[in-house]
Amino acid sequence: MTQASQISEDQVLKALEGVMDGGKSIVSKGMVQGLQVQDGHVVMAVVVPPSVGAGAEPIRKEAEKVIHALEGVLSATVVLTAESEPGGHAGGGNSGHDHGHGHNHSHGAPAEDAPLLPGAKSIIAVASGKGGVGKSTTAVNLALALKDQGLKVGLLDADVYGPSQPRMLGISGEPQSPNGKTLDPMEGHGIKCMSIGFLVDEETPVVWRGPMVQSALIQMMRDVNWGTLDVLVVDMPPGTGDVQLTMAQQVPLTGAIIVSTPQDIALLDARKGLNMFRQVDVPVLGIIENMSYFACPHCGEHTNIFSHGGAKKEAETVGMEFLGEIPLDIQIRETSDGGNPVVVSDPDGAHAMAYKAIAKRVWEKTEDAIQAKAASEPRILQ
Ligand code: ADP
Repeated sequence: MTQASQISEDQVLKALEGVMDGGKSIVSKGMVQGLQVQDGHVVMAVVVPPSVGAGAEPIRKEAEKVIHALEGVLSATVVLTAESEPGGHAGGGNSGHDHGHGHNHSHGAPAEDAPLLPGAKSIIAVASGKGGVGKSTTAVNLALALKDQGLKVGLLDADVYGPSQPRMLGISGEPQSPNGKTLDPMEGHGIKCMSIGFLVDEETPVVWRGPMVQSALIQMMRDVNWGTLDVLVVDMPPGTGDVQLTMAQQVPLTGAIIVSTPQDIALLDARKGLNMFRQVDVPVLGIIENMSYFACPHCGEHTNIFSHGGAKKEAETVGMEFLGEIPLDIQIRETSDGGNPVVVSDPDGAHAMAYKAIAKRVWEKTEDAIQAKAASEPRILQ
């Protein structure tokens, strides 16, 4: 049905002529940005004024539906993005970088240059040199272990390539926008959560362009009612490319944690992560070795599948703290993939204890980092 036909950008734009906003097409209004068509996968942003914000969700949905209906389209991913100039033209040359415009006049919704996440006392990125090392599993268990300390915790799933936190926290449905401007975060196991996964189907192959990723991230920080939080844990996209670097720059991070497997250490991927955060002056709180060893469920014997202890050595070499190790264990996989991470499903078990010990140290270091940051920043006099 779909294979032979090659869908083009022009065809997509033509179809979008039928999507209206206030009686005019979103194409003629210049609201289509960053349109990209690749092997039947279509990705684009709809630019709306900041004052409209999430209230434009019906337009986003309709655009996605219209594109999906085209022959040759395998997936359609449309995100909403707010720009300071509502009619600002699509595409070329616009980096989507929102900082420093300083001249927008929004009404009601958070201003474009409003501080991101003013209610969060601290923001910690959980990052990895590459995918599949258990970064998301670590992020969710860490977030739950921080909550167990009595902290108010949020989890921002910024892993645009494979958003898995809705599944790991057992959350379904879509976030609501009671005021039509900002979104309420979802909640799972007492943690507020916002994920690109709530806005995009988990099955959709995401062929994100850098600027679009940035807009989506900014939206998740600025247009979501996070309220007050002691700590927001950010599940970063894996890797250390431009997208990750920009994110590390755009999110006002208090610190970062690197998750590695023993083999990842061997390939020096973890070191790239460390260098990336150093480049943008974000303190690395430490490294966690995941899938560190295999604990046999029958006899309890520990087997080192890869060279165990590599993270500890690497940490010593590059001068960052080794925060702890988590074994490769089916219970960790089954519980987090099933929406009941081990920290809540077996709170007194050895794995939960390991995460809690790491979380305790992470919070100590975070509090130090908050103080250090406050001491180095210029005071705002009221
Ligand atoms: P990443 O975010 O780095 O891509 P995930 O957290 O999604 O990785 O983990 C990839 C897979 O490995 C998931 O199925 C997860 O349940 C599993 N996993 C992660 N950590 C462990 C662990 N310590 N023991 C067993 N399975 C794990």
